[in-house]
Amino acid sequence: MSKFSQPDIIVVGLGPAGACAARKAAEAGCTVMAIEKKAAAGTPVQCAEFVPSMVGVEVAGLSDTCRQAIDSMMTFVEHDAPDRMANFPGQMIDRQAFDSQLVQIAIDAGVECHFGVSLKSVSKAGEMTLSDGRILKAEIIIGVDGPKSRIGAAIGQINHELVETRQISVPLLHPQSATDIFLSADIEGGYGWLFPKGDTANLGLGVDAGQKHRLKPLLDNLHEDLVRQGRVGNEIFYHTGGAIPVGGMLECTGRLGDGAVLLAGDAAGLTNPVTGAGINAAVISGHYAGTCAAALKGGDGDALEDYQEDLEDLFKPGLDRACKRRQQILNAFRNGGPSREELRTNWIAYPEYWAA
Ligand SMILES: Cc1cc2nc3c(=O)[nH]c(=O)nc-3n(C[C@H](O)[C@H](O)[C@H](O)COP(=O)(O)OP(=O)(O)OC[C@H]3O[C@@H](n4cnc5c(N)ncnc54)[C@H](O)[C@@H]3O)c2cc1C
Repeated sequence: MSKFSQPDIIVVGLGPAGACAARKAAEAGCTVMAIEKKAAAGTPVQCAEFVPSMVGVEVAGLSDTCRQAIDSMMTFVEHDAPDRMANFPGQMIDRQAFDSQLVQIAIDAGVECHFGVSLKSVSKAGEMTLSDGRILKAEIIIGVDGPKSRIGAAIGQINHELVETRQISVPLLHPQSATDIFLSADIEGGYGWLFPKGDTANLGLGVDAGQKHRLKPLLDNLHEDLVRQGRVGNEIFYHTGGAIPVGGMLECTGRLGDGAVLLAGDAAGLTNPVTGAGINAAVISGHYAGTCAAALKGGDGDALEDYQEDLEDLFKPGLDRACKRRQQILNAFRNGGPSREELRTNWIAYPEYWAA
């Protein structure tokens, strides 16, 4: 007797994109099964936990999991005095609580969730082999398995460009309502951040994947600087990190055998290539993916095409601009290192970033 029922839709990954996709499809009447390799939702946290406010978009679950409001952004270029971007509202969330809450909403909607089960491989015919040896097949697969998505790879959609990150949680000695960003010709293809969460802060750094070996010394230096300035404590509560897709949007649909495949969130390359922000895009694209999967199940032959078009309308202009800016800064790194002006032009806090 199988431990799993045979669902209409299989969702691979239960991050924000997966939980939202699964929920929407279940609410529309589909039978949905989701697998997640982690033992529990949202843990360990691999995130700096900042969600910028988006006009007109309500991110489900956000208010209950908010830990501190953010009103502005301070950008430190090299060791210059910071530039303040006054109107940069958002929230610092508790990412573990956020992901757990989204999964609970999905379970309440009827999704069958299996934790501690990973997808090992998927065949061209759409047969998925799980870590416990089971083989599953569904009419519709939603690939929401993050930056290094196996489902994406199976349909030829791979995030080739990645930023690697390292983050520590430290005591914050003076409360602040701004996110701090550190730009430097030392930090190739990325930046440093200090994001406040009450009396602690997430202090992290991302670099182009080829520079991964430099993450630890660069973050140690930034930490030491901030300790010397009396802004953060020496103590480190935890370490985390992970990959961020920075190559822009992939094709979000495909086919395996006679089944349809949808990608959303990081698996679809929706993370901003300059800032690395991807939570909002994961939630929104997850909702669209779940709705599309239900429409497909209901016989809507245009649903896949509509899904791709909807995501392009929503995300592509912003992602294309960020890709262009990222390419510019990488070129500057290859040509002797960026000037202060180039660092500014390629960061979202400066008007130059938004110019044509
Ligand atoms: C260090 C760091 C800091 C970040 N900070 C921010 C930030 O401050 N703000 C922001 O907006 N974004 C941030 N991001 C990006 C953000 O975390 C992602 O964009 C977001 O998590 C994408 O959601 P998702 O559901 O698409 O993917 P994920 O959250 O990655 O979820 C994918 C899930 O799939 C599971 N999975 C993977 N492979 C398999 C498999 N084979 N079988 C079963 N399950 C699998 C994973 O365990 C995971 O739970 C950060 C990322 C990193 C690494």
